[in-house]
Amino acid sequence: MLISVIGFPRIGANRELKRLVENYLKGSITQDDLLQRARDLRKTHWRWQKEKGIDWIPSNDFSFYDTMLDTACLVNAIPLRYTQLGLCPLDTYFAMAKGYQGENGDQKALPMKKWFTTNYHYIVPEITDETTFRLADTKLFDEYKEAQEAGFTTKPVLIGPFTFLKLSDNKSAKSLRELANELMPVYQEILVKLGTWQVDIIAFDEPSFVTDITPEEKRLIIEIYEHLLAMPNRPRLLLQTYFGDVRDLYDQLIRLPFDALGLDFVEGEQTMALILQYGFPQQTHLVAGMIHGKNIWADDHQVTRQTLQSLQAQLGDVTMVISTSCSLLHVPYTKQVETTLPESVLSHFSFAMEKLVELKELANSMEVMHDDRKGIASLPSNFPKSERSQQQLPDVRAKIAALTERDFIRLPTRSKRREIQKTTLGLPLLPTTTIGSFPQTAEIKKWRKDLRDGKLDEAQYNEAIRTKIKSVIAKQEELGLDVFVHGEYERNDMVEFFGEQLEGFLFTQKGWVQSYGTRCVKPPIIFSDVKRRKAMTVALTAFANQLTDHPVKGMLTGPITMLNWSFHRVDIPKSEIAMQIALAIKEEVHDLEKAGITIIQIDEAALREKLPLRMGDWDAKYLSFAIPAFRLVHASVQPQTQIHTHMCYSEFQDIIEEIDQMDADVITFEAARSDLALLQVLQDRHFQTQVGPGVYDIHSPRIPQVDEIKEVITQISSHLTMDSVWINPDCGLKTRGEKETWESLQHMVQATIALREAFE
Ligand code: GLN
Ligand code: ZN
Repeated sequence: MLISVIGFPRIGANRELKRLVENYLKGSITQDDLLQRARDLRKTHWRWQKEKGIDWIPSNDFSFYDTMLDTACLVNAIPLRYTQLGLCPLDTYFAMAKGYQGENGDQKALPMKKWFTTNYHYIVPEITDETTFRLADTKLFDEYKEAQEAGFTTKPVLIGPFTFLKLSDNKSAKSLRELANELMPVYQEILVKLGTWQVDIIAFDEPSFVTDITPEEKRLIIEIYEHLLAMPNRPRLLLQTYFGDVRDLYDQLIRLPFDALGLDFVEGEQTMALILQYGFPQQTHLVAGMIHGKNIWADDHQVTRQTLQSLQAQLGDVTMVISTSCSLLHVPYTKQVETTLPESVLSHFSFAMEKLVELKELANSMEVMHDDRKGIASLPSNFPKSERSQQQLPDVRAKIAALTERDFIRLPTRSKRREIQKTTLGLPLLPTTTIGSFPQTAEIKKWRKDLRDGKLDEAQYNEAIRTKIKSVIAKQEELGLDVFVHGEYERNDMVEFFGEQLEGFLFTQKGWVQSYGTRCVKPPIIFSDVKRRKAMTVALTAFANQLTDHPVKGMLTGPITMLNWSFHRVDIPKSEIAMQIALAIKEEVHDLEKAGITIIQIDEAALREKLPLRMGDWDAKYLSFAIPAFRLVHASVQPQTQIHTHMCYSEFQDIIEEIDQMDADVITFEAARSDLALLQVLQDRHFQTQVGPGVYDIHSPRIPQVDEIKEVITQISSHLTMDSVWINPDCGLKTRGEKETWESLQHMVQATIALREAFE
């Protein structure tokens, strides 16, 4: 049985690529250096895969920033404003990725979006009427050749034409079909060129095939691939899908003469059923995505082997290739370097390198016809009963079991609470506030490092943080804000900060995963039942609160964001883990309330992003527990305690009712960058929660002018009743500098004060 890998992590086991690119952009290494060291990195990755016995090793899965952006460059979807900067190709590429400000001009970066249901972000290519598709880059070919010269035969991988167009921002007047017709010749040319090079097989990645596909899109997809497959002398073509099943397309895909078809058996719930129902073509290789590319748990080989065996029995002579379920980009490199976690824990993990070994183990075990279990590793992800009970917390389970409907309903109703809070809080019309964090200066980061290195003790660190809190409270008084925050200076990250204090969360030392470009995150691992050990935020929040007469918001991260930004157990339902985290956060909410905190914000930055890819699954598989988990956190607070939530995006048009059902008193969200598009929807749907649509974009150092903000507020007033509106920036300020922050906030307050009277 052959073995295929869809993609390998590219940032480097020690984040080498991150440093290289950052140094290059700073000007501290040359372009030649960058290119050479990137070659070394690719070679290492190919070598590892070859050593582990991978047959179809990917090339062109490497990227200096993002493979969607690479594809845009490949097909010449480069907006004119970037080429006009007159930079060399690599710098034009980085200008699109990160923006450019220098001698040659000033251009913002292209926007980024979440890559399906992963925590990776891709650059959204822009297509306008000026876009002329043509083969404009050689990276795909260069990397193939480079591998060949280094002694590796690879399978070039490329984002397929449908997914590329579907994910691009089509600003042209052309339809998807028209664009596809224009793009097709480029893909054909690629096939011809690789054909003349005697390339054996190329993979076109089409993850968009696992989303809801309309009949019209389906016709288009078939046409695209009929054309591509008809090219003479082309390499073999592997159509690679992942992140789910291709239920809307399967019956047609199997009629097309693909040389290989890659299907996801891990997240593709219906993949097996589709094969049973429609069969599978004899002449096509089945690339069976069996090893989970998105989570870090060791494979249960016995179960996987059974699946493979029943497939074999079903398919007879079809050649099978065993594969990862998606690119390994979404997991860390290796658990070998982890020294702080005990072997009993590590034995359950499998990162990218370990997954290569798993693929080989499975392939080997399939060679042995009889049921020989030797050579099959133990079954770590299938936590044995004895171990499971160790990871369960009976008190937490008892509390969850005792929950009733009443625990999810906050009373009195929102409108009654609103009257009460009006009196108790006594806030002015258009109250001004911020989202939580204030700039994390180099000084603060140094304190944290000194604490880790033992140069500061706990007491000294705390004292330093308190000094900072004191000054930011004074600053907020000076600026004239209405509702204050303590600044989140003690937090490295909004999930990690809580995860580190909760029972059930584990942290790796080097488990970095690329989040976007040069940015990596180290997701926590939810290993066992979750429980709060002790109060996590009360001391500092209460400290801040007694420094001022203004209310200081308590600041917590919500259960769904904690879940979505962690690797969590897969043998326990997500809904259960969410409820456990919700209980822990609920306890914190109550302690804050007891400490006299009257406004508590529970951030759900990541609620929208794990919405299932198919609309039919939204409710049953996600919202049905995500919304209740949030409600559980706050349902039993006093009527006068005001609950806020915050979301980092405004793309929740489709789930507006559900957001309202979270039953928060106030929601703040990003709106500045999306031209306040959500306001109309809020108006049309009679949104009940009070709203703070961010009035300026904090993702840029630019300082908004007073008039600009007044204009935004006026725009808001044409959609919403002003006694339901809050005025705030669109996200936390921790990545900004202090000077620009104070100035921007001052303008925000000035604009608000200037307009208040007009709306009273
Ligand atoms: N309260 C957090 C902060 O201000 C929210 C961050 C976020 O939404 N990503 O930093
Ligand atoms: Zn945010």
